[in-house]
Amino acid sequence: LVTLITFIKELTEMGLFSKKSKKAVASSTAAAETGGEDHACGILQGEDRSHLVEPKYAVEMSDRRLELMLNKCSKEYAESVRDNFDKLGEATDRPAAMAYFDRMLGLDSPRPEELQKLKLQGKKVIGYYCMFVPKEIIMALDAVPIRLCSGIAATIYPSEELLPNVLCPMIKSSLGLKMSCMSPYFEAADAVVMPITCDGKAKLGEILQDYIPTIQLNIPRRKDSAHITDFIDNELKVMITELEELTGNRLKAGALKEAIKTTQAEQQAHIRLQELRKGPDAPLWGRDAFLVSQSLFYDDIPRWTVEVNRLCDELEARVRSKKSVAQPGAPRILVTGSPVIFPNFKIPHLIEEHGGIIVADETCAGTRNIKEPVVVDEWIKSDMLRALTEKHILPCTCACFTPNLSRMDVLTEMVESYAIDGVCYHVLRGCLNYDIESRKIEKLLKSHGIPMLKVETDYSQEDVEQIRTRIEAFLEMIVARKR
Ligand code: SF4
Ligand code: SF4
Repeated sequence: LVTLITFIKELTEMGLFSKKSKKAVASSTAAAETGGEDHACGILQGEDRSHLVEPKYAVEMSDRRLELMLNKCSKEYAESVRDNFDKLGEATDRPAAMAYFDRMLGLDSPRPEELQKLKLQGKKVIGYYCMFVPKEIIMALDAVPIRLCSGIAATIYPSEELLPNVLCPMIKSSLGLKMSCMSPYFEAADAVVMPITCDGKAKLGEILQDYIPTIQLNIPRRKDSAHITDFIDNELKVMITELEELTGNRLKAGALKEAIKTTQAEQQAHIRLQELRKGPDAPLWGRDAFLVSQSLFYDDIPRWTVEVNRLCDELEARVRSKKSVAQPGAPRILVTGSPVIFPNFKIPHLIEEHGGIIVADETCAGTRNIKEPVVVDEWIKSDMLRALTEKHILPCTCACFTPNLSRMDVLTEMVESYAIDGVCYHVLRGCLNYDIESRKIEKLLKSHGIPMLKVETDYSQEDVEQIRTRIEAFLEMIVARKR
């Protein structure tokens, strides 16, 4: 907490938070920390204010109230991170190379400070959501992409002042992250790109405009009509123009090529890791695989790539010597549905603490859509942008699309290639898209003889015991079937 307040103070001293009116919509603890001086934290962040909208949603808060909110959220967040690492500490045979990813997502992560240094060098930080935003474009504009989808329970309560209680916890948590000024990543962001996917994301993007420059990327619900690629290309062009204005840089073919080469290497490493999880001996806990995927939300991409390849070297040795982290015959589980985002690892912990091993996931905070890197025909700008559409948007199997039949094909293929014994279908309470699609996925899996357990939950810990009982019974049933 001290580090976080110091970080916010440092940003304030650097002039990265601007001053605002007395009747500010939100102000930071920095105000309290600097003797009541009126600093902006969530709202009016960044230097160019000309395109910030007049606040329509944001609530007015006293410095004292914001300080209490920041303290409460930070304390609860720290507890949940420690709790996760305690649970991971109980898992056997974690690879030594996981220490890097633990640190990256841990409370002493060096990344916030690195971002601060990059901002001092004049770089912009662009937050983004979902997996639809081609981060290569942000990188080619000499800015730093960070993904801000939040799995933090602690930041839900501030958002409930603005959002209906029934909304999915990821939307609430992501807004609360900004309202509470709790995240050094969000506070480092100069702007965010929000794809319009589900209803919650559409409105989250609208509300965030009160706090930070927000570009809403229009994503179609249907991908199977003839003109759809042109439609997405045009939407990307609108986003690029807005990002060019924000960063003050023009998108150049050479820089885009370099960025794509960087992410191609990243994706190759990610694919290499996935391939190692297919064999009969599981060299890595599923929880660790989620940690690896999600540290990429914030990390420096080339460094992450090196560390993943280092992890893969270690795992390859394990595979060669037939070493598994799980017990022989452990049920091989695939997780699909709403994203499982750190520190909300409730479901993965329960599965793996009770004898299951998650060998694959089909979620947007894991390994969805990493089958192949970006494929470019010719290194000209239009071809590269088309390749990004074909990589990041068209193959995505998020339930926000309809009819989303490709998700069925992908799951059928995964169930076979990972030798899956059972599927855990995760629904974040309030996520109607994944809830509705669970029916067709259950029917599909049944036709392949694969049992499915649907778990509807949120970020709280209140239902842990009830879910534990269901997961235990599910795993026991699979073990009995395998005998
Ligand atoms: S589930 Fe879909 S809409 Fe939600 S964050 Fe993932 S990709 Fe975006
Ligand atoms: S989990 Fe569902 S409701 Fe939540 S952001 Fe993703 S698609 Fe939207």
